[in-house]
Amino acid sequence: MSVLNKFHSKMIAASIAVVLFIGATGALPATNQVLSPWISVTAYAAAAAVQPPTDGSVTIGSNCKSGGYVTWLQQSLKALSFDPGTIDGLWGTKTKTAVINYQLSRGLAHDGLAGKNTLTKLVSEVSPKSNFKYNSPNVVIYSKNTQGNVYVSKNFQVKEFACKDGSDTVKVDLALVERLQAIRDHFGKAVTIVSGYRTDAYNKTVPGAATGSYHVKGQAADISISGVSRAQIRAYAITIGLSYEIYTSDSPNATGLTQHLDTRNIANPISFRQP
Ligand SMILES: [Zn+2]
Repeated sequence: MSVLNKFHSKMIAASIAVVLFIGATGALPATNQVLSPWISVTAYAAAAAVQPPTDGSVTIGSNCKSGGYVTWLQQSLKALSFDPGTIDGLWGTKTKTAVINYQLSRGLAHDGLAGKNTLTKLVSEVSPKSNFKYNSPNVVIYSKNTQGNVYVSKNFQVKEFACKDGSDTVKVDLALVERLQAIRDHFGKAVTIVSGYRTDAYNKTVPGAATGSYHVKGQAADISISGVSRAQIRAYAITIGLSYEIYTSDSPNATGLTQHLDTRNIANPISFRQP
């Protein structure tokens, strides 16, 4: 109970903070002033995701039906391509169905409740592996002209991350490169960097690009892999600390499509983006 009580206090504090914030400004801020524009106001207002304990003290759907643990569960399921409906921190039919589908796919007892076994499995799947050298951001500035052929990892060269406008400057987050290399190794296939670093000027010309895009910081890459779907890329990417976007018109199971990945939240990558 104490965990839950503590958690509910946090929830109340978070709600008050949101109200105060709205009160101070008169309205919710345009989301791109504080957060990336594709994060919905709903997501912003929802209680912050908190990883639930896996000791059996919390069973989501039974002794926990709202708040940050539910948000975490919904984000985790969504990240693994099990649709929980709206990420609202509220237990409901769609979230329960997603839990059942997840349990079925993992050979767990499919009671539709996220208790000890289900949460333990889920945590193991969405927690980033820690055997990486770099934390993010670890951005290095290269010259395409003089260092374009330099290998920043086993398979990636500086020029692959260069801005499409021909600029000499190339910003590359080594934490991103290290994880892209892990993706390349995991699938055993060439990874095409469709868009890596972008100058601010170039980013403004990209339709639908976010203001302050992580591409401008050298922390994002849009990639495609022949024969691999977005769902497959995402499911692996979150286990190595990469955040990603989900698109308005998504085709998660079609192969070879471009998927955005970035290192904004390397410690808690289940915070996916949606338009
Ligand atoms: Zn992108």
